[in-house]
Amino acid sequence: MPPIAANLERVRERIARAAERAGRDPATITLVAVTKTHPRAYAEAALAAGQYDIGENRPEEAFAKYGDPAQPPLPGLRLHLIGTIQSRKAAIALACQPVLIHSIDRLKIARKLSDLAQAQGRCLDVLFEVNIAGEATKAGFSPDELRQALPELLALPGLRSHGLMTIPPWDPDPEKARPHFQALRCLRDTLAQEYPQADWSQLSIGMSDDFEVAIAEGATIVRIGSAIFGPRS
Ligand SMILES: *Cc1c(COP(=O)(O)O)cnc(C)c1O
Repeated sequence: MPPIAANLERVRERIARAAERAGRDPATITLVAVTKTHPRAYAEAALAAGQYDIGENRPEEAFAKYGDPAQPPLPGLRLHLIGTIQSRKAAIALACQPVLIHSIDRLKIARKLSDLAQAQGRCLDVLFEVNIAGEATKAGFSPDELRQALPELLALPGLRSHGLMTIPPWDPDPEKARPHFQALRCLRDTLAQEYPQADWSQLSIGMSDDFEVAIAEGATIVRIGSAIFGPRS
């Protein structure tokens, strides 16, 4: 196992320094430690080091590791679902009891999750995922699609939205992500004016290679995997 506690400390330090440079309070930035592909023991090590927000991109993997009542509970763990949810996996996503779903990327899954949540008397906290660079292979609403869908999205009784998420095009140079983060923040600011009744406070941007740039551009949530848990096989 990699030195998870030490890696976490280093990442937290880098977050604090990036926040300081941006004139921001580090306490306004939530670190989500992404354990996808790694065993449950990695999350246990993170929890032991005081890291309670844990992210997974696939509902069935999340359920097997953290949601299955057949396993001993991991007290304090706050699960974030950060990947595309297939319609047929909506029920299992709900069964994971996520504190936040970052990846509402189309109207169909929004309706389905809302229906299922409502049937259980629940309301899910969510972000809308935006394909900000318009990549053909990437999930997410285009800004135009999101605009058109928002009246319905914001009226869904089983969802409560809190802001936006994006994954910029992959590039080894983190500076290349900056204009995409800026575009997402601009979109958020505009939508917040158009729909002041909704909460737009959260911007889930920034991963291992670009989280410092994301913090400079207003990230309130960073999703970090490999810098904490090492490379994925
Ligand atoms: C895997 C994943 C991350 C973490 O990626 P790293 O580069 O390992 O930090 C963040 N966000 C999403 C949506 C992911 O799937």
